[in-house]
Parts: sequence; C-alpha cells; structure tokens
Amino acid sequence: MNILLTNDDGYDAPGLRALEEALSGLGTIWTIAPLTEQSAKSHALSMREPIRALPRGERAWAVSGTPADCVYLGVNELLPARPDLVVSGINSGSNLATDVYYSGTVAGAREAACFGLRALSASLWIQPGQEPHWAVAGRFTRRVAEHLLAHPPTPGVLLNLNVPDVAEPRGLKVTRLGRRHYQPMVDVREDPRGRTYYWIGGGHDRFEGAADSDGHVCEAGWATVTPLQLDHTAVDLLDALRSGLDSK
Ligand code: MN
Repeated sequence: MNILLTNDDGYDAPGLRALEEALSGLGTIWTIAPLTEQSAKSHALSMREPIRALPRGERAWAVSGTPADCVYLGVNELLPARPDLVVSGINSGSNLATDVYYSGTVAGAREAACFGLRALSASLWIQPGQEPHWAVAGRFTRRVAEHLLAHPPTPGVLLNLNVPDVAEPRGLKVTRLGRRHYQPMVDVREDPRGRTYYWIGGGHDRFEGAADSDGHVCEAGWATVTPLQLDHTAVDLLDALRSGLDSK
C-alpha cells in the first residue's frame, strides 16, 4: 500500500517528520513536500513556471511549488502507482472553519480528493510558548488514517483533522465546518527606496457558527474531524435561483 504525504510548512517542517513517524508501518511512505513554506497558498498550481523536484531520499522529494503541485506530481508522475491514501500535514497551526479556504494543508488533501483518492489533512493547534505536542497529533492522525483506509468515503470527500495542543485531548469528535472571524490587518510600510509596501493578514478573532462546529469543539479541547466535500453547491438555493434565472 502506498501512502503519499505532503504539507504546506515545507519539507523540513517538524510536523512532517511527526507525520512520517505516526504513519510508519501503515504502508510504503512517499513524502513529497514543498521546498519552502506555502502556508495560506490554498489550492494554487504552478502552471506558469517550471517545477523542480529535488530528491531527499529513495521515496522523498522537496518540490519548488505548492502542496497541490506536490500531490499532482506525486500522483501523476513520481509514484509508481496511485496512492491508497494521501495525508497532508501535520500543520503547525489549526485549520478550522473558514481556514480551509486559505489553507495549503487542506488543499493538499483536496487535490488528492480531486483525483478520487482517500485524503486527510491534519493540523495541530499550536500554542505560543510551549513545545508542540506533535506525537499527540500524530496519534490522532494515525487513528483517522486507519479509519479512512477501512471505511473509504464517497469519492470527492476529504477529512480535515484538527488537534488541540495538549498532552491529553478530551477525545475525538466529528464536527461540521464552522466560520472563523479574523481581525483584518493591513500593515503599511515603506521600503528603503521610499516605496510603500504592505503586510496583510490579521489573527484569529472568534469562531462563529453552530455549537457543534469544528472551531467551538476544538476550542473546548477535543480533536475534531470534519468531512469536507468538493461539491460546494448551495443546494438550498437551487430552486429559487432557477425560478428567477432559468431561461423559459
Ligand atoms: Mn502551514
């Protein structure tokens, strides 16, 4: 069995080592991860520039691209067969609620789901000022990966796991996707030549959405698994939209 690993924090990230360790023995591990950090790059594909895959071992490459590039290359070129499972992570930081639209970690798994493969993204909600509990996140990742192999979901569905950064999370709960409210931030600066430049991206403000949604549940100390699907259609709106817009 072939298991493809990727991440968005880059090939040398500790979360990727933790993932390799956590899944060791489950199958043949292939690691294809970005050469440099690609957090918040979402599902970008590098289609306007060449991609280099630098060997990092017999079954490992660091790729000059995004997580989606890594999975694309792995599935369609570098692996000898289609992987039985693709796992992206373990991300340094949570990917809860609205994060899933920005996350390169989740997009790595989503790219695998686009190929009809079993896919899982995993993130550890690291806390400042403490050593991350990578092995704890690894244990939950392994548990969900084993479940995914034994009970493959409908093609086009991926699982998104988040683990609180504590020695003993309260357990695991299946959740729905919530909404995250960010505090928008634009930091305006000036470069040494007098030209203006910007840093964007404020921090977490609060979670919104149902009490059983991922952000609230993870905040309460549980590891959460949310099934995500490629079909984003707002089904509830179809009829009303059709009656207003469909050609007669
Ligand atoms: Mn990241």
